[in-house]
Amino acid sequence: MWKVTVDREKCQGCGECVESCPGEVYALRDGKAEPVNPEECHGCHTCEAVCEQDACHIEEDD
Ligand code: SF4
Ligand code: SF4
Repeated sequence: MWKVTVDREKCQGCGECVESCPGEVYALRDGKAEPVNPEECHGCHTCEAVCEQDACHIEEDD
């Protein structure tokens, strides 16, 4: 299992994580990314790589 978090202070709502996540983990709400399907995360780290704001993070949660 992976824990998915977004720092709302840092997130600029660019949508890159929403577009690039293969698990459709994120959605934009009120101009910020939210992990709406965190159970679909499989730890590929793509969202962290594409986020220029260093706003979204995943960590192993077992
Ligand atoms: S890629 Fe980063 S800044 Fe862009 S919406 Fe996702 S968390 Fe926010
Ligand atoms: S690590 Fe991969 S599967 Fe998990 S939220 Fe980020 S892009 Fe999606």
